[in-house]
Amino acid sequence: MTRPPRTLVRRTEWPQSASRPVVTPLQPSVVYAAESPDALDDQYEGRVAGYAYAREGHPNADVLARMIDGMEGAQDGIVTGSGMAAVTAVMLGCLKAGDHVLGGDQLYGRSLRMMAEELPRFGIATSLVDPTDVAAVAAALRPETRMILIELVSNPTLRVADMAGIAALARERGILLAVDNTFTTPRAFRPFQHGADIVIHSVTKLLAGHSDATLGYAVARDPDLQKAIRDTSVTLGLTPSPFDCWLAERGLYSFELRYDRAEENARALADALARMAGVKQVLYPGRADHPDHARAAALLGARTGNMLSFELNGGREAANAFTRACPQIAFAPTLGDIGTTLSHPPSSSHRALSPEARAALGIGEGFFRVSVGVESADLLIEELGAAVAATRA
Ligand SMILES: *Cc1c(COP(=O)(O)O)cnc(C)c1O
Repeated sequence: MTRPPRTLVRRTEWPQSASRPVVTPLQPSVVYAAESPDALDDQYEGRVAGYAYAREGHPNADVLARMIDGMEGAQDGIVTGSGMAAVTAVMLGCLKAGDHVLGGDQLYGRSLRMMAEELPRFGIATSLVDPTDVAAVAAALRPETRMILIELVSNPTLRVADMAGIAALARERGILLAVDNTFTTPRAFRPFQHGADIVIHSVTKLLAGHSDATLGYAVARDPDLQKAIRDTSVTLGLTPSPFDCWLAERGLYSFELRYDRAEENARALADALARMAGVKQVLYPGRADHPDHARAAALLGARTGNMLSFELNGGREAANAFTRACPQIAFAPTLGDIGTTLSHPPSSSHRALSPEARAALGIGEGFFRVSVGVESADLLIEELGAAVAATRA
């Protein structure tokens, strides 16, 4: 007969240390053991702080959420398992069957798809409008419009929404205004200071900054609404991984340095591209020739970001020659990485649109979007300049 084990499975003691680690501990535990049912009551009823089950919350998510709260001037935001999880938590937490939501017509591709495919299945009506045109926004509102969702700077043509006009309209009509602040980041723009009710982020992009963590963030100004968003996130299981939160926290410490350097590079690269033969057009909100330059200056000041777009002469053939001639710059459909990345909307984010619909947005086959990174500006200009030259060979 074997004897029963004398020690139980789980080690419960953590080695004592009078000094503390400087790095936030990574805590992957799914469950937390309480001392007694009464102690658990105290926790659930808010008399003491504590965690119970990771889907409902865990320390690494809370550390990250408090950091982003601070940057946005917000309180009690949640971190979610992706940017789309944050959009989902906001939509399903705030809307119900019979409501209408109005979105910007150049929202992130999957947000557009959520509006077109997912929300209508739950009885939520949706439509899209050009957010640079406040008269069009006013005309698109319905009596049952409950929310407007915009991104201040659109993808990929970097048009700037009429934030002041839309915020005034939303306030007047009692409609929630949600802003996906992924492109602009709180370094350039804090939506709560401009009349937004809800702020959303894909933390995956500039905030985490290293393309190694998939995360989102959502916060509402109204505590009741924020509770609804949090409950929806917990119920639908939109919870982030502790390891991703830990990585993003690490990335966030260098966010302002990365942002400032990337923005400086973007400004220099935009000007350099505009001078190159073979480049038909450059779109950068910080340049005087951008169609929304005045609005960008008013809303963002000099913080016009790390994103720029340009169009090559020569269509698809030039586009192929261009990416082949700069293999060191990742041709990859993301943004906000420390390294510069290139995307070609006609073959990726906007491939579902007809060529006519793309043309109406100003996206031809030679169109590229650049997420500028933190490399040396001289090197970047040299590398991309050589690739532009290759399109003319
Ligand atoms: C990437 C992105 C999202 C979605 O974020 P994921 O983390 O990829 O789910 C939402 N909005 C914008 C503006 C984005 O760029």
